[in-house]
Amino acid sequence: MRGVLRRGAKLVIASHNEGKVRELAELFAPYGIDCISAGSLGLPEPVETGASFAENARIKAVAAACGAGLPALADDSGLEVAALGGEPGIHSARWGGAAKDFTSAMTRVHEALQARGVSGANANFTCALALALPDGETSVFEGKVFGTLTWPPRGGRGFGYDPIFVPDGHDETFGEMDPELKNRLSHRMRAFEKLIQASYVNE
Ligand code: IMP
Repeated sequence: MRGVLRRGAKLVIASHNEGKVRELAELFAPYGIDCISAGSLGLPEPVETGASFAENARIKAVAAACGAGLPALADDSGLEVAALGGEPGIHSARWGGAAKDFTSAMTRVHEALQARGVSGANANFTCALALALPDGETSVFEGKVFGTLTWPPRGGRGFGYDPIFVPDGHDETFGEMDPELKNRLSHRMRAFEKLIQASYVNE
């Protein structure tokens, strides 16, 4: 994979989630990589049948790379709550329902914790980034950020479960935080740093 990504390279972002596409495009911008979203190419979303973030990221990246004939990057990520046995985990998007309503998904997390008598629960976001080539070769990189959950939700920035997640060492939720700070701390950034080390050549 070394050298797949270099200044001017085109990279398909295999996601239909605008929040993720935006954050990934921002991470790649300083490297001069031209990010194109799978949605803008009209690529279909494959069914995520994997049992882990890594497997689901791989499925999405391979489908987009083969469909577009270009290198593709997929992000599979989610919120893992220790007191809920790691749920919603790989089902994080599904907890938002067909309408992708994360206010109700956050309420579901809160109610599940209340039912167990837990407050200030430990949680982490995990992100698996899979980079695939049109011939199917794939590498996967994983990053995590740890913190606690707060209630009620705070902040209208970010996406998904950001308004209830307070990263360790900070007082603001990801939903309140300056997006640049979230990008520096996030699970996505941690996975991204590993991917850049393995795949980027500056020429
Ligand atoms: P995926 O598209 O199946 O990977 O869905 C991941 C889901 O996890 C998203 O829809 C969000 O709800 C949640 N998620 C992943 N990363 C973040 C994040 O950085 N902030 C908030 N929620 C996230």
